Amino acid sequence: MAQHVQGVIARAKGAPVELTTIVIPDPGPGEAVVKVQACGVCHTDLHYREGGINDEYPFLLGHEAAGIVEAVGPDVTSVAPGDFVILNWRAVCGECRSCRRGRPQYCFATHNAKGKMTLVDGTELSPALGIGAFAEKTLVAAGQCTKVDPAARPEAAGLLGCGVMAGLGAAMLTGEVGRGDSVAVFGCGGVGCAAIAGAVLAGASKVIAVDLDPRKLDLAREFGATHVVDASREDAVVAIQAVTDGNGADVCIEAVGNPKVLEQAFYARDLAGTVVQVGVPTPDMRIDLPMIDFFGRGGQLKPSWYGDCLPSRDFPLLIDLYLQGRLDLDRFVTETIALGEVEEAFGRMERGEVLRSVVVIP
Ligand SMILES: [Zn+2]
Ligand SMILES: [Zn+2]
Repeated sequence: MAQHVQGVIARAKGAPVELTTIVIPDPGPGEAVVKVQACGVCHTDLHYREGGINDEYPFLLGHEAAGIVEAVGPDVTSVAPGDFVILNWRAVCGECRSCRRGRPQYCFATHNAKGKMTLVDGTELSPALGIGAFAEKTLVAAGQCTKVDPAARPEAAGLLGCGVMAGLGAAMLTGEVGRGDSVAVFGCGGVGCAAIAGAVLAGASKVIAVDLDPRKLDLAREFGATHVVDASREDAVVAIQAVTDGNGADVCIEAVGNPKVLEQAFYARDLAGTVVQVGVPTPDMRIDLPMIDFFGRGGQLKPSWYGDCLPSRDFPLLIDLYLQGRLDLDRFVTETIALGEVEEAFGRMERGEVLRSVVVIP
């Protein structure tokens, strides 16, 4: 039987988000209803509200979540009611040209629930990234539920569902940071700090954090940065060369989504090094590099979607590292808030006052 619960929606472009009653249908084949315990506030939620993704209002926001499976569709065997899960937006199909070649982390046909969550008047909701977890319950595809050790705090675990995974994966998976590598991370918000943590986990010998905000550089140190560069006061490329014997870093990770920053990452890289771009650009941005520099420096330029993660492989592993004290996910949780406080949290996020505000649902 369909259930009425509270959820946070964006009804129109630029309008403040609102807490309202939404209708969750029973799970159909291949689907699950999840009781959400915690959901982080991400820039992408704000982009949806502002019409930056598409204009399929109303949106049910929220997508960095963990919770308990409440019910599953008739054919679902991957998860069962009572399982503690992190929600993901990469439910792989197993059949597309990428999956068939053994590269499911790039699946080109990921899927979401087919059933529709609605407002009480029947208006269909568009769930953010196919999840919609600023809600007491949400309907997702079963493949969007990744079972992990229930000993993890939901407010920390849920962050692996998006930004923190993107950053960890940018270093560990896309950038393939290895033991002894020097790594520079540009932009020290949630994604950048996760990239720093990932570089440390992967055995980097130097981790250089670059930002314009000294508060973010302090955070970067807490996550393991060995050097920090305040790019409002010094040239980031020169500063990175100075701490890498004049060479540049083996892996440079752009976690801002800005062409000037990407250019710095490009030139702050050692010969044959790797640039990873995980910061999300806007459609108007362009890059313009001398082709001789592109060729002459060798190496790799690699965009990173969702940190190239495969949730079923990576989430349980990272939760195990978290529970062993080797990955400090708790440090990303600046504050916990109630479901009705998302709009205020957007403001704090835009002003750079938080790494993550996390909605906790009792
Ligand atoms: Zn696929
Ligand atoms: Zn996100």
